[in-house]
Amino acid sequence: MAPVDAVAAPAGFGNVLRDMTSVVLDALAEGAEQRHGPLPAGGPGAVTRRVHAALGGAVLPEHGDGPETALRELTTVLSAGAADPSDPYCVAHLHVPPLAVAAAADFAASVLNPSMDSWDQAPAASVIEQGVTDVLAALVYPRAARPDAVITSGGTESNLMALLLAREQARATGPVRVVCGANAHHSIGRAAWLLGLPDPVVVDCPHGHLPPESVDRVLRELSGPAVVVATAGTTDEGLIDPLPRLAEIAAAHGAHLHVDAAYGGPLLFSDELAGRLAGIEAADTVSFDLHKLGWQPVASGILAVRDASVMTRLSIEADYLNAADDTEAGLPDLLGRSLRTSRRPDAFKIAVTMRALGRRGIALLIEHCVRTAERFAAAVDAHPGLRRRPGEIGISTVLLRPIEADWADDHTGDKLVAAVRRHLLHEGTAVLGRAIAADADGQRRLWLKVTLLHPRTDAEQFDGLLDLISRTASLLA
Ligand SMILES: *Cc1c(COP(=O)(O)O)cnc(C)c1O
Repeated sequence: MAPVDAVAAPAGFGNVLRDMTSVVLDALAEGAEQRHGPLPAGGPGAVTRRVHAALGGAVLPEHGDGPETALRELTTVLSAGAADPSDPYCVAHLHVPPLAVAAAADFAASVLNPSMDSWDQAPAASVIEQGVTDVLAALVYPRAARPDAVITSGGTESNLMALLLAREQARATGPVRVVCGANAHHSIGRAAWLLGLPDPVVVDCPHGHLPPESVDRVLRELSGPAVVVATAGTTDEGLIDPLPRLAEIAAAHGAHLHVDAAYGGPLLFSDELAGRLAGIEAADTVSFDLHKLGWQPVASGILAVRDASVMTRLSIEADYLNAADDTEAGLPDLLGRSLRTSRRPDAFKIAVTMRALGRRGIALLIEHCVRTAERFAAAVDAHPGLRRRPGEIGISTVLLRPIEADWADDHTGDKLVAAVRRHLLHEGTAVLGRAIAADADGQRRLWLKVTLLHPRTDAEQFDGLLDLISRTASLLA
């Protein structure tokens, strides 16, 4: 094994990285074998004990144990204690198994460590990033004259930047008011808070979608500038707000429109599914994540803007990174492309993935997940022990309850749903999410949430999961 202080470098130092990488690969496999399931069994206490044991009592020992021991022991315990999205029963969140090609590309990025805040730290990486953002901007805005996109750490940062740009656009007319649905992601409210905006007007969404008539009513009553936030792929249900109608209403009131398509945006890669996002091109700004439907390692977010001119508000000069004379002499100015300074080349893994799979290849994976969700929903409908939330299926999200939860009063029923989820987490046999959503009678109830984002599992593989949920419910009821 190499000296402990060997640096990562693309050349030289013999096989330093090759040796270390093979230790990591073996340890990943060893840990997964120890776990044998989507989640470590025994709950937080058991995991904490195992991690502490592997750390040997000291996170920072006085004298180091060397790279091989450290990598082997900590990677093994990391893998043994992982919620593993490559396991088909790990379906709680928008938490995906990254494509191997993307993880390998990210490794290259880690070795070279380009930082995207100045050209002299990222010459090729910045050109690749530009290519990726151009393509994604054109995907969202195929007919716009001057669309643009920037790389973000994900939907949270994209939403923050979108509201910042809306605030700056409205600078002359007063503080912008955010109008969003109760179905909006929590990062919208937090972004408004961070930006010093008034509290958002939160519109009730009885059926999980943002109702355009309600937005219209709110905008009629507001006097100052507004930004309407619609969601394409809600966190709880995967539903897409009625974008064409919301776009019309926002336009009629002169409001900025932001579409949070962190989940649903990549449907645009698919000819078959892009129609579900009709109207998105009317948005001023769009959040779009590729660490969900896109199978990138976190982080991999994008904010697309219909007109690049709004980005000028972000430009900033720091003499050591983008001095005016350097920029005039032809060195690209990258600093205004993010709120961050040092920044990983997240576009690199995206570029490698796009080149490896092509648009059609990415679309096939997305179509597979949508189809798997439809089949999964049908299997829930056919299962005697389970009931699906009535109504349309979200992009790849299905909500269900064991029938025992319907036998009791609502409070007891919801408690059973929560208990089933925690029981499976404790056993380490399945990782299911939870969501509160309206039932057929309008009553809001707790559901188990299954988010189907594994690009290589089939609906039939979930028969065992449905039986497991049902068996657990009868055990706990
Ligand atoms: C995931 C998600 C977010 C948050 O994105 P991060 O990438 O986790 O920061 C915001 N909005 C929606 C609709 C999401 O699905």
